[in-house]
Formats: sequence, structure tokens, C-alpha cells
Amino acid sequence: MYETIIEKIKEKLANRNLKVVIIPHISPDGDAAGSCSALWQVLDRVGIQAQLMTCDYIPDYLKWLKRIPDAISFQNRPKECKQWLHKADILFMLDHNTVAREGDLEPFVKEFEGEVIMIDHHPDPDKVTYQISDTSVSSTCELLYNVIAKVWGKEIIDTDIANAIYTGISTDTGGLSHNSSHPETYRVIADLLALGLNKDYVHEQLYQRNTLSRLRLTGNCLLNKLTVDEHFPVATIPITFQELELYNYKDGDLEGLVNIPLSIENVLVSVQITERKDKVKLSFRSKGNIPVNLWAKEFFNGGGHLNAAGGQMPLPLDDVVKKVRETAEWFFKQLKMEN
Ligand code: 5GP
Ligand code: MN
Repeated sequence: MYETIIEKIKEKLANRNLKVVIIPHISPDGDAAGSCSALWQVLDRVGIQAQLMTCDYIPDYLKWLKRIPDAISFQNRPKECKQWLHKADILFMLDHNTVAREGDLEPFVKEFEGEVIMIDHHPDPDKVTYQISDTSVSSTCELLYNVIAKVWGKEIIDTDIANAIYTGISTDTGGLSHNSSHPETYRVIADLLALGLNKDYVHEQLYQRNTLSRLRLTGNCLLNKLTVDEHFPVATIPITFQELELYNYKDGDLEGLVNIPLSIENVLVSVQITERKDKVKLSFRSKGNIPVNLWAKEFFNGGGHLNAAGGQMPLPLDDVVKKVRETAEWFFKQLKMEN
């Protein structure tokens, strides 16, 4: 499908004197960090100089991924980020469809004069020089695997690279529970295993590393915060900034929580509404073919995938909770009209 574009990228990257910048989306998750880690390692192996930069920070729970600790952040090293953007020939946009998801880096990336290669799986991508965008894949990492295999040959993938690619496939599918019904995803995983993937190690890093405070935060949310709407099949978990502080919250501590209410019978949509310092962040998850990205886009300045979307609001937490409740009617009416 992308043969021509990949052929062009291959020709381009045959030049080992290139300088490359890699950028994930704001609040990087496993797919964003995994794809950045894998790509940077491959570029290292072929001798292309690259730098990973983020508009904020990669959470600690993903720091075990090779090369991730070497990323620079625009928050504390803006000058270096700008210098790299100035001197780079190629910019890789990974796991996001628009520069608007690059936070404070956005204005500087907009001025970037080199060529942009996007590898992503979100709908409605920005136009860039080389676009490899496919909403049918499980994750950016799955797509990146195919690009790596075609450009450099899959033998370039070693254990650390395979671990990074598998991280994105696993986290973006909730541990292969959703968005993972294409045989191709499992062919990629089979290849990764043959190339040295240490699946047990990756699972341990991603899913077996609780802290007492994280478990208590989860417990509090499920016991005291989770409610199910009376009229619509929607579960919500509102979380205050004060609660995050009380439980010594660290990035990643709420990872996976929003999926839990979907296991309740009759709940079709789960919404986590988290108060941050300067905004309220929303996470939407759904079962079946319920397009929560539509809800996030229409009312909460967001977007995403059919079953996993997000957004944000510059309003107090209570107002956002109210807005979710009030707009549920609109959302379910839309679904009825479509069916
Ligand atoms: P999460 O709930 O894990 O933060 O996000 C789930 C998915 O929703 C992400 O993979 C991303 O595609 C999308 N998403 C999350 N937050 C935003 C946002 O603020 N804007 C947009 N456009 N998409 C978002
Ligand atoms: Mn992704």
C-alpha cells in the first residue's frame, strides 16, 4: 500500500550523513515511546545521527526502553530542541496525526524546513512530505515494524528493538484485548519473537510494577469515585488534583484504570475525568463499534480512535463532569441516527 512512499524513504535514508529528529505526541504513551525508541535504535545501527525530543516528559514507567532516557524535553532544554530542528534534514512524527499534538513544540515544528515523515494510525492526518498513516493497524509500532522491515530488512531488529515495538502493540491494544483482530498483528508479533523479543520482560515492565500508592489510588477511584449513569450506559471516574497529590501520583499511575469499568455488564463507555494543574483531561474508552472519538471531538477539544479517545477542557472538574453527563444524550442520539 505504501510501497512507493517507502521506496522513496529508503532512497532518502540511504544517505548516512542525514540528521534526524524524532517527535512523539504530548503525554507520550507506550506506543509513542515504543515507536520512538525502536526507530532511534535502528537509526543508531545504520549510523544515522538522530535525536528524540518531546514537548513534555516521557513517564518513568517507560524509561526502561532503550534510548528513551536520552530524549531531550522542550520544557528544560528548549535551546537544544530548536538547534536540532534548525539543523535536521528529516523529522519523524510518530504516533500522532497533527502538529497540534506536539504541545509547545508546535510553532517551531511548523517552521521546520526539512522533510517530514509521519508514521501514525489516527484519522484525519495533516499533510506532510511522506505520509504513512493507516487507521486499520493496532498501533504505530505495528506500522513502524513494516516500515523498518521494508527499508532496512527485519534482521536489523534485535531484542531491544523488538521489545520497544511490542510495547506499542501491547499498550495500544490493552494487552491484545481491543483493536487487535487482524491476523497481521500476530504475524508481526511472531516475527518479533523470532527476532528475539523478550515478551515476559516487557510484560513485567509494563504491567507488573505497582507501587503501594498507585494501588491505593486505583482502589480509591473504584471504591469512591466510579459511578454508572442512570440513563446511559456510561461509567465515569472523576479524579481531583488533590487526590492525585494525596496518593503521590506519578505519570503512568492511572494507566489502564479507564478500561476497568468496561467490564461491568451494560457499561458501553467509560470516561475518566482527571483534574490537572491547568486543565481537566478526559479519557474515553468504549466497547464494540461505539465511536467515542466523535464525542471527544465534538465537545472536549479532542479526538483519537473509535474505542480509545481523549480530550481536555479549561474548566473546573465539576463543570466537565456535568458536561459529560449533559452531552451523553446527544452522543447516544447520534449513534441511533447512524444505525
Ligand atoms: P488516553 O485516554 O490514553 O490519554 O488517549 C487515548 C487516545 O486518545 C490517544 O491514543 C489519542 O489518540 C487520543 N487523545 C488523547 N488525548 C487527546 C487530545 O487531547 N486530543 C486528541 N486529538 N486526541 C487525544
Ligand atoms: Mn498509538
